[in-house]
Amino acid sequence: MTNHHQILIIGGGNAGLSVASQLLHKRSTLKIAIVDPAEKHYYQPAWTLVGAGIFDINKTVRNEKDFIPKNTIWIKEAVAEFEPSSNKVKCVSGTEITYDYMIVCPGIQLDWNKIKGLKEALGKNNVSSNYDFKSAPYTWEMIKNFKGGTAVFTNPSTPIKCGGAPHKIMYLAVDYWRKKGILEKCDIHYVSGATVIFGVPEYKVTLEKVLLKGNIKVHYSANTIAIDGNAKTIEFETKNTEFVKQSLSKSAAGCYSIAEGNDADSVSRVTMNFDLCHAVPPQSAPDFIKNSPLRDQANALGYVEIDKNTMQHSRFPNVFALGDCTNAPCSKTGAAIRKQAPVVVANLLAVMDKKPLSAQYDGYSACPIPTEYGKLMLAEFDYTNKPKMTFPFDQAKPRWTMWILKTKILPWLYWNKILKGTA
Ligand SMILES: Cc1cc2nc3c(=O)[nH]c(=O)nc-3n(C[C@H](O)[C@H](O)[C@H](O)COP(=O)(O)OP(=O)(O)OC[C@H]3O[C@@H](n4cnc5c(N)ncnc54)[C@H](O)[C@@H]3O)c2cc1C
Repeated sequence: MTNHHQILIIGGGNAGLSVASQLLHKRSTLKIAIVDPAEKHYYQPAWTLVGAGIFDINKTVRNEKDFIPKNTIWIKEAVAEFEPSSNKVKCVSGTEITYDYMIVCPGIQLDWNKIKGLKEALGKNNVSSNYDFKSAPYTWEMIKNFKGGTAVFTNPSTPIKCGGAPHKIMYLAVDYWRKKGILEKCDIHYVSGATVIFGVPEYKVTLEKVLLKGNIKVHYSANTIAIDGNAKTIEFETKNTEFVKQSLSKSAAGCYSIAEGNDADSVSRVTMNFDLCHAVPPQSAPDFIKNSPLRDQANALGYVEIDKNTMQHSRFPNVFALGDCTNAPCSKTGAAIRKQAPVVVANLLAVMDKKPLSAQYDGYSACPIPTEYGKLMLAEFDYTNKPKMTFPFDQAKPRWTMWILKTKILPWLYWNKILKGTA
């Protein structure tokens, strides 16, 4: 096999496969190679539904080989280093590959170890995470079998893939416990590193009503640092001690302690007992991106430095990036990739043809948020955090039709159209 390729795509996930297929639809003569070591491909958006007991985990995984587009070369290796000034990547195995043009899309890194004890706690003692293929079915086991007590749902302070996923599962759990008649016995806490429930005011209003209805106590700017599955304790750091004291004092469990800092600016450490915990790890660019010349030096989490509208690398014009790995300040979702991929395709072809880059990505992203079983709010927005609704009705209102879109139509579209570059 030759080790030089006209277009080299790093990562054959949602972004890599979509963009490869779309490039070939536009120009069938292109010579494309995809580097990805994974045997399996996952439809991650359905893991929330798996955790809520309404989707089979086995339907979220397929063989990668069945989705690699015809007429591309699949290099089953993991990239370890980038040398963009010599148009070269090095793989973990030592293989070197060169290219004329490169598209970087190896996704995001789940930093489980940034929450002490989390990785070890997963999948037992009522601790789970829908961010892990193996744990998502356990989320449902613990929600289904919960008999009341303190339930904690965490959200880290870093950007994450699908910013809605940490609270989507909470709304479904609350609805399940309401219908089971045990909600009165549940003391529910959302421990979030963010400062609001949702960044777009129009959608935020809807979610605040859901929080209120479920009597969910929300701790903002609260950064989870440790989870002990055996002791069933969670520790988080916060500056909002007064607020935390107030909301915890209203809680049924009341099992908590606060180690306060010495001055107004210092961070206090809160330890709380739980009976059930759904945790989401902090996330960042994969380490091999962080340690490469492609990274944005100003970005503490090490994402690939691109122009947020053209998706072209800011310093290497023959390099583009899309998906969860970039520093574009959009919400990291598959929905965003649907709009990014055609921009990458058009602008990469323009670079090849020595034409100006004319396609622009406006930061579009979507977050389908189930507010109860059978109802979903489809939040769509762009870089300006303004709603960008597709349908001719108010999408801030949760609807059954949007629930059907999420649970039935989107999974079908993903495997049959999106990965094949036709939607
Ligand atoms: C629980 C959950 C719920 C979600 N809900 C939604 C939702 O409702 N709607 C929505 O739009 N999005 C949702 N998402 C987000 C969506 O799944 C991601 O945004 C999307 O998969 C990102 O695509 P990607 O191609 O950037 O990364 P991925 O799809 O993760 O693919 C990355 C690929 O890169 C490969 N790779 C990694 N390292 C290397 C390496 N060193 N060398 C070569 N290849 C490598 C991997 O094997 C993988 O195949 C959700 C995600 C989760 C976890």
